Amino acid sequence: MPKAIEIYDDRLRAIVHSDASLQQLANGAVHSEGPVYFHEDDSIVWSDAHGNRLLRWSATDNVSVLRDPSDYQSGNYRDLEGRLVACSSGLRAIIRHEDDGEWKILVDRYQGKRLNSPNDLVVKSDGTIWFTDPPYGITEPNQGYGGEQEQPGSYVYRFDPATGEIYPVVTDMVRPNGLAFSPDESLLYVSDTAAFNIPGGPHHIRIYEVVDGRHVTNGRVFCVIEPGQPDGLRVDEHGNVFTSSQDSVQVYAPDGTQLGKILVPEISTNLTFGGKEGDSLSGTLRERLFITAGHSLYAIDLNTGDVQQ
Ligand code: MG
Repeated sequence: MPKAIEIYDDRLRAIVHSDASLQQLANGAVHSEGPVYFHEDDSIVWSDAHGNRLLRWSATDNVSVLRDPSDYQSGNYRDLEGRLVACSSGLRAIIRHEDDGEWKILVDRYQGKRLNSPNDLVVKSDGTIWFTDPPYGITEPNQGYGGEQEQPGSYVYRFDPATGEIYPVVTDMVRPNGLAFSPDESLLYVSDTAAFNIPGGPHHIRIYEVVDGRHVTNGRVFCVIEPGQPDGLRVDEHGNVFTSSQDSVQVYAPDGTQLGKILVPEISTNLTFGGKEGDSLSGTLRERLFITAGHSLYAIDLNTGDVQQ
């Protein structure tokens, strides 16, 4: 089996074992995106974004289809009550899976105009939903239903489902796509995938300081991703940044140093931590990184996870 890990900095050795292997858990999707972990049954829900379906994997049940069609659902996350919240590129909305099984539109407009096509989201510890809004569901025929762009740009929004308040927090990016907070939520990382179809466009991750949990300031480039561009990203409990790229999941220290790569044979789109189960006292604790890439879902064992689990 080819080696999955490339180490550029010894700090990576504490994060992932140099002999760890990448496991392909599922394939057959048109374009895998947006994995979210359910600790209750050790399962992953993810989007077949271009196949217009929502899928589920578990070690016991293998793969099942949860929604077909899914209105081009993209990024997925769980709210503070454990409900699935998602970006709907087709409906140009943030949606939530209600306890009665319905998918409810939480927000689809800002200042009376339709959103572009929400792509990825995170839920902050105060329950607010922060999401990116590039136009791919409008411009790309396999990512939505088309239509006119009504917003003047591609922004990152803060939306409060408790009050309905919505406003942009990041307005200085070209195609904001993936996003994640640092463990203490003092920093916000946002990837820019403009290089995907804009020649010379950015292919980097920007970092912002969060002010009062409501705004961001002092945005700057955290790292430039090559080859390809970053899409989804996650930050572990130590502040290390894991980002998708064309050839791998790349790992960066909080100071921006690239520590290494987890090589993936298909183009990775998104990732999430999970699999934290077992007993830490008896040493059976297991943590994994789940990666959506190309047609597939992959996993690799890690020595780190996120703070929410
Ligand atoms: Mg994305």
